[in-house]
Amino acid sequence: NMRVGVLAFQGAVREHLRMLTMAGAQAVAVKRREDLCSVDALILPGGESTVIGKFLQETGLGEDIVSRAEGGMPVWGTCAGMILLAKHIVNENYVHLGLMDIWVRRNAYGSQLDSFIVRRPVPGVSEKPLDLVFIRAPYAEKVSPGVEVLLEVDGKIVAARQGNLLATAFHPEVTEDPSFHRFFLEMAGSA
Ligand code: GLN
Repeated sequence: NMRVGVLAFQGAVREHLRMLTMAGAQAVAVKRREDLCSVDALILPGGESTVIGKFLQETGLGEDIVSRAEGGMPVWGTCAGMILLAKHIVNENYVHLGLMDIWVRRNAYGSQLDSFIVRRPVPGVSEKPLDLVFIRAPYAEKVSPGVEVLLEVDGKIVAARQGNLLATAFHPEVTEDPSFHRFFLEMAGSA
C-alpha cells in the first residue's frame, strides 16, 4: 500500500498520521531529507506557515519537495500547508514552495471569526456533509484557469486541486471522517 509522508516539524502532524492509517495508507513522519525519499505522497499540515516555511528553507527539504512535486509527487496542504503551496500570498512579499497557481490570503477570516465549523457535502469527495473545521484559516481569493475549485464556502475558495496538488483551507484531520484522506489517496494512486 501507499507510503504517505506528513511533514513533521510543527502543527497537526499526529492527527494526519492517524487519519492516513484509518484510510489504509502507511503513514510516515517526514523530518529529514532522507525521509522524503521513501514516500509516494506528502501532506503539509496546518500550523504556522512562517515557522514551517523557515524550517523547509533551512533544512533544504523545501527544495526537495519542489523537485519531487514537479516530478509528479502528490502533495496536499491543509491550512498553513495551503499557504506553503501557493505561488501568491496576498499582501505579503514572500512565497514558500510556490507550486500552486492560487492567490491565498492568510488569516483571511480575521480575529472575530478566528475558528469555526461548517457542514457541507464536498462534490467528488463526500456526498454526506463533512465537518469543515477552519482555524485561523486562509482562503484563496482567486485561482488560475488550470486549477479546479473543489469547494467554495460563502463565495470563498476553500478547496482546490491542480493536477497532483491539493489544497484545503480547513482541517479534515481533526474530524472522525477520513473521506478527504481517501480522496487524496485515490488522487495519489492514479498519479
Ligand atoms: N494562520 C496560520 C498561518 O498563517 C495557519 C493556521 C492553521 O494552519 N491552522 O500559517
